Amino acid sequence: MSTGLTDEHARVERRPATAIDVVRFAGVPGLRAALAGADVRLDGITDPILGVLVGSLTEVLASGRSTQLAAPPLERMIGDPDRARELVQTAMAAVMTETVLRDCAALGVEAVRWLGLGSGEDCDLCGMNARAAPVPLRTPFPSGHIGPPAHPSCHCGLVPVRMRRPAGAPVTSTGRDPAQRGLLAPSSR
Ligand SMILES: [Zn+2]
Ligand SMILES: [Zn+2]
Repeated sequence: MSTGLTDEHARVERRPATAIDVVRFAGVPGLRAALAGADVRLDGITDPILGVLVGSLTEVLASGRSTQLAAPPLERMIGDPDRARELVQTAMAAVMTETVLRDCAALGVEAVRWLGLGSGEDCDLCGMNARAAPVPLRTPFPSGHIGPPAHPSCHCGLVPVRMRRPAGAPVTSTGRDPAQRGLLAPSSR
Protein backbone atom coordinates (compact mmCIF):
# COMPACT_ATOMS: atom_id res chain seq x y z
CA MET A 1 0.00 0.00 0.00
CA SER A 2 1.29 3.44 -0.84
CA THR A 3 0.16 6.12 1.57
CA GLY A 4 2.47 8.87 0.37
CA LEU A 5 3.13 9.67 4.01
CA THR A 6 6.51 11.04 4.99
CA ASP A 7 8.28 10.15 8.23
CA GLU A 8 7.20 13.51 9.52
CA HIS A 9 3.55 12.60 9.15
CA ALA A 10 4.17 9.33 10.93
CA ARG A 11 5.32 11.02 14.12
CA VAL A 12 3.08 10.29 17.02
CA GLU A 13 2.68 13.96 17.90
CA ARG A 14 1.42 14.66 14.38
CA ARG A 15 -1.58 12.35 14.65
CA PRO A 16 -4.21 15.12 14.57
CA ALA A 17 -2.60 16.32 11.35
CA THR A 18 -2.74 12.80 9.94
CA ALA A 19 -6.40 12.50 10.89
CA ILE A 20 -7.14 15.81 9.16
CA ASP A 21 -5.36 14.50 6.07
CA VAL A 22 -7.55 11.40 6.24
CA VAL A 23 -10.76 13.46 6.48
CA ARG A 24 -9.72 15.64 3.55
CA PHE A 25 -8.62 12.67 1.49
CA ALA A 26 -11.78 10.68 2.22
CA GLY A 27 -14.02 13.67 1.54
CA VAL A 28 -17.73 13.20 0.97
CA PRO A 29 -17.48 9.95 -1.07
CA GLY A 30 -15.09 8.35 1.43
CA LEU A 31 -17.22 9.23 4.44
CA ARG A 32 -20.38 8.05 2.69
CA ALA A 33 -18.73 4.69 1.97
CA ALA A 34 -17.47 4.38 5.55
CA LEU A 35 -20.90 5.20 7.01
CA ALA A 36 -22.60 2.76 4.64
CA GLY A 37 -20.07 0.08 5.67
CA ALA A 38 -21.22 0.53 9.26
CA ASP A 39 -24.91 0.26 8.23
CA VAL A 40 -25.70 3.88 9.10
CA ARG A 41 -29.07 4.99 7.69
CA LEU A 42 -28.22 7.39 4.88
CA ASP A 43 -31.65 8.26 3.47
CA GLY A 44 -31.90 12.03 3.33
CA ILE A 45 -28.19 12.45 4.05
CA THR A 46 -27.21 14.48 1.01
CA ASP A 47 -23.72 15.35 -0.20
CA PRO A 48 -23.98 18.92 1.17
CA ILE A 49 -24.78 17.46 4.62
CA LEU A 50 -21.76 15.18 4.40
CA GLY A 51 -19.76 18.19 3.22
CA VAL A 52 -20.64 19.93 6.49
CA LEU A 53 -19.57 16.77 8.34
CA VAL A 54 -16.18 16.86 6.58
CA GLY A 55 -15.77 20.52 7.53
CA SER A 56 -16.84 20.00 11.15
CA LEU A 57 -14.54 17.02 11.68
CA THR A 58 -11.61 18.92 10.19
CA GLU A 59 -12.34 21.82 12.53
CA VAL A 60 -12.56 19.82 15.77
CA LEU A 61 -9.44 17.83 14.88
CA ALA A 62 -7.52 21.03 14.11
CA SER A 63 -8.59 22.67 17.36
CA GLY A 64 -8.23 19.53 19.50
CA ARG A 65 -11.76 19.96 20.82
CA SER A 66 -14.28 17.24 21.60
CA THR A 67 -15.53 15.33 18.59
CA GLN A 68 -19.12 15.91 19.65
CA LEU A 69 -18.74 19.63 18.94
CA ALA A 70 -18.89 18.59 15.27
CA ALA A 71 -22.54 17.58 15.70
CA PRO A 72 -24.42 20.92 16.11
CA PRO A 73 -23.83 22.17 12.53
CA LEU A 74 -25.20 18.84 11.24
CA GLU A 75 -28.10 18.95 13.65
CA ARG A 76 -29.12 22.31 12.23
CA MET A 77 -29.26 20.75 8.75
CA ILE A 78 -31.06 17.52 9.56
CA GLY A 79 -33.03 18.58 12.65
CA ASP A 80 -32.23 15.39 14.55
CA PRO A 81 -29.64 15.61 17.34
CA ASP A 82 -29.36 11.84 17.83
CA ARG A 83 -28.79 11.22 14.17
CA ALA A 84 -26.24 14.06 14.00
CA ARG A 85 -24.28 12.54 16.90
CA GLU A 86 -24.48 9.12 15.28
CA LEU A 87 -23.07 10.46 12.01
CA VAL A 88 -20.23 12.24 13.82
CA GLN A 89 -19.28 9.31 16.07
CA THR A 90 -19.41 6.76 13.27
CA ALA A 91 -17.45 8.95 10.87
CA MET A 92 -14.84 9.68 13.54
CA ALA A 93 -14.38 5.96 14.25
CA ALA A 94 -13.75 5.42 10.53
CA VAL A 95 -11.31 8.34 10.39
CA MET A 96 -9.38 7.04 13.40
CA THR A 97 -9.22 3.54 11.91
CA GLU A 98 -7.77 4.90 8.68
CA THR A 99 -5.37 7.12 10.65
CA VAL A 100 -4.09 4.21 12.75
CA LEU A 101 -3.73 1.98 9.68
CA ARG A 102 -1.74 4.67 7.87
CA ASP A 103 0.46 5.31 10.88
CA CYS A 104 1.03 1.57 11.35
CA ALA A 105 2.06 1.19 7.72
CA ALA A 106 4.39 4.18 7.97
CA LEU A 107 5.92 2.93 11.22
CA GLY A 108 6.30 -0.70 10.17
CA VAL A 109 3.66 -2.03 12.56
CA GLU A 110 2.32 -5.21 11.01
CA ALA A 111 -0.90 -5.97 12.82
CA VAL A 112 -3.72 -4.43 14.82
CA ARG A 113 -5.99 -5.57 17.60
CA TRP A 114 -9.64 -4.48 17.97
CA LEU A 115 -10.07 -2.44 21.13
CA GLY A 116 -13.60 -2.68 22.48
CA LEU A 117 -15.12 -0.93 25.47
CA GLY A 118 -14.40 -3.95 27.66
CA SER A 119 -16.00 -5.01 30.95
CA GLY A 120 -19.00 -6.56 29.19
CA GLU A 121 -20.05 -3.31 27.54
CA ASP A 122 -19.41 -4.39 23.97
CA CYS A 123 -22.18 -5.54 21.65
CA ASP A 124 -21.91 -9.07 20.21
CA LEU A 125 -20.24 -7.82 17.02
CA CYS A 126 -17.59 -5.68 18.69
CA GLY A 127 -17.02 -8.20 21.48
CA MET A 128 -16.35 -10.90 18.90
CA ASN A 129 -13.78 -8.67 17.15
CA ALA A 130 -12.16 -7.65 20.45
CA ARG A 131 -11.72 -11.30 21.46
CA ALA A 132 -10.25 -12.26 18.08
CA ALA A 133 -6.53 -12.52 17.42
CA PRO A 134 -4.74 -9.48 15.96
CA VAL A 135 -5.01 -9.26 12.16
CA PRO A 136 -2.55 -7.95 9.56
CA LEU A 137 -3.26 -4.37 8.42
CA ARG A 138 -6.43 -4.03 6.29
CA THR A 139 -7.46 -7.64 6.91
CA PRO A 140 -11.07 -8.18 8.05
CA PHE A 141 -11.88 -9.03 11.66
CA PRO A 142 -14.60 -11.70 12.25
CA SER A 143 -17.36 -9.11 11.63
CA GLY A 144 -15.91 -8.46 8.16
CA HIS A 145 -14.66 -4.95 9.02
CA ILE A 146 -10.98 -3.98 8.78
CA GLY A 147 -11.51 -1.74 11.80
CA PRO A 148 -14.18 0.26 13.64
CA PRO A 149 -16.95 1.26 13.07
CA ALA A 150 -18.65 -2.13 13.01
CA HIS A 151 -22.06 -0.43 13.36
CA PRO A 152 -23.55 3.05 13.88
CA SER A 153 -21.97 4.92 16.81
CA CYS A 154 -19.29 2.25 17.35
CA HIS A 155 -16.87 3.53 20.00
CA CYS A 156 -14.13 0.96 19.38
CA GLY A 157 -10.57 1.60 18.26
CA LEU A 158 -7.56 -0.21 16.86
CA VAL A 159 -4.38 -0.98 18.80
CA PRO A 160 -1.10 -1.52 16.96
CA VAL A 161 0.63 -4.80 17.84
CA ARG A 162 4.07 -6.19 16.98
CA MET A 163 6.83 -4.10 15.53
CA ARG A 164 8.98 -4.77 12.51
CA ARG A 165 11.86 -2.43 13.22
CA PRO A 166 15.27 -2.35 11.56
CA ALA A 167 18.01 -2.92 14.15
CA GLY A 168 19.09 0.34 15.70
CA ALA A 169 16.36 2.40 14.06
CA PRO A 170 14.60 4.88 16.34
CA VAL A 171 11.00 4.04 17.09
CA THR A 172 9.72 7.57 16.67
CA SER A 173 11.06 11.06 17.04
CA THR A 174 9.79 11.11 20.59
CA GLY A 175 11.19 7.71 21.50
CA ARG A 176 7.75 6.55 22.56
CA ASP A 177 6.76 3.06 21.61
CA PRO A 178 3.90 3.34 19.11
CA ALA A 179 2.80 -0.17 20.04
CA GLN A 180 1.32 1.38 23.14
CA ARG A 181 -2.25 2.57 23.18
CA GLY A 182 -0.95 6.16 23.12
CA LEU A 183 -0.86 5.94 19.34
CA LEU A 184 -4.61 6.43 19.44
CA ALA A 185 -5.46 10.10 19.68
CA PRO A 186 -6.98 10.64 23.13
CA SER A 187 -8.64 13.91 22.11
CA SER A 188 -11.32 12.23 20.05
CA ARG A 189 -12.41 9.57 22.51
ZN1 LIG B 1 -20.46 -2.56 19.18
ZN1 LIG C 1 -17.56 -1.08 18.44
